[in-house]
Amino acid sequence: MKIKTRFAPSPTGYLHVGSVRTALYSWLLSRHLDGKFVLRIEDTDKKRSTQEAIDIITDSMNWLGLDWNEGPYLQTKRFDRYNSMINQMLENGKAYRCYCSKKRLEALRIAQIAKGEKPRYDNYCRNNQHNLEQCSVVRFRNPQEGSVIFKDEIRGLIKVSNSELDDLIIRRSDGSPTYNFCVVIDDLDMEITHVVRGEDHINNTPRQINILNALKAPIPKYAHLSMILGSDGKKLSKRHGAISVMQYRDDGYLPEALLNYLVRLGWSHNDQEIFSLEQMKTLFTFNAISKSASAFNNEKLLWLNHYYINHLPPENIATYLSWHIKKQGINTSNGPSLVEIIKLLGKRCKTLKEMASFCRYFYEEFKEFDADMAKKYLRPLDRKPLEILRTKLSLISEWNVENIHQVLKNITITSGIGMRQIMMPLRVAVTGGGQSPSIDITVYTIGQQRTLTRIDRALKFITTHNI
Ligand code: GLU
Repeated sequence: MKIKTRFAPSPTGYLHVGSVRTALYSWLLSRHLDGKFVLRIEDTDKKRSTQEAIDIITDSMNWLGLDWNEGPYLQTKRFDRYNSMINQMLENGKAYRCYCSKKRLEALRIAQIAKGEKPRYDNYCRNNQHNLEQCSVVRFRNPQEGSVIFKDEIRGLIKVSNSELDDLIIRRSDGSPTYNFCVVIDDLDMEITHVVRGEDHINNTPRQINILNALKAPIPKYAHLSMILGSDGKKLSKRHGAISVMQYRDDGYLPEALLNYLVRLGWSHNDQEIFSLEQMKTLFTFNAISKSASAFNNEKLLWLNHYYINHLPPENIATYLSWHIKKQGINTSNGPSLVEIIKLLGKRCKTLKEMASFCRYFYEEFKEFDADMAKKYLRPLDRKPLEILRTKLSLISEWNVENIHQVLKNITITSGIGMRQIMMPLRVAVTGGGQSPSIDITVYTIGQQRTLTRIDRALKFITTHNI
């Protein structure tokens, strides 16, 4: 039998990195075993679910390259199916109508708490039908004896006594099916063989297994993933990494880096840190998933992003970089190719957002010289080296790095001016600031005409600022 896994997010906000790790593990398991992967949108909470959040989920999955074989299925489109199953269960006695009023249930709850008991339904309607005129909910007839035992793929054997579980409401009085019931019917209908989800759902599992048993349905395997904590060791918060996947895209991360980071957050393969998607698919199994919570570490993610910026083929990165460049409104029609930019700036930039803002001067005139740098390197005494440079650079007939380098070197020899005294004013003149890759390559990439025009601009600046 082929395996089938699913990712079942609730569309109530952005897609959190914790959810994406769940999606990734579930996806990897299906890909590792050549199975299928289903995307299911759990939108039964109509008040909190939005179309925008559904779009964010599909956009995030697409950006990460986590493709699905079926779906997205929407639970709100399947209410007829859930209700017909509930009706069948009412007919064959697996479920029953409960007419207890809110007032009665509340009084029951208060009394149980006062006695130090766990609040639970007291089965008042289980065997007797009361107040038939009143509207009712439907409850699942949970077994009263024995226990539910299942083997969690990560945590091992889990046993919950049925006496702990009360009769779960599966249909509300307004006729809508409840969350746990929808999940069960979906997992059954979609023939899910492995349920991979967060440990916050572990308490739902025995209830869901009981319903599946009542329907004589196969029980999938379950794997509940541990929490991701923030770098401060507390619940993941916005300050410590709980940001949306799309925020990582906007901040200039590569999907490869984020996936690599997330796969290692709770899974390992010896001491290996770098995994391509293909390697993840080959190596991923449940055995090596950690039971303990993992802490989010932004530094490590940044390190991985830098690694991928320098190790993926620049042609692949160019597509992502181009997105950032457009977002920053840089017109690249006149200047180097993005592949050149990536090769040139890869070492200095940890994110593509940074790279996009850094590369602007290769394409467009900068607005003004950085004030501190200009004060330091565009002084009256820098005029002479800049003038010599302008002349010598204008004489280069074949504009290449070697010839530029030679010109710079010759000037230092013939004029006795130190390399730094030439390099820094030139750098400020052509980039507007004090940082760039090696000056010969920078000047080469900016182009001959542009370089000369910018030196003229710097000379003019020296004149006007030093009258
Ligand atoms: N919709 C649930 C959530 O977003 C997942 C439920 C499940 O995987 O069974 O947490």
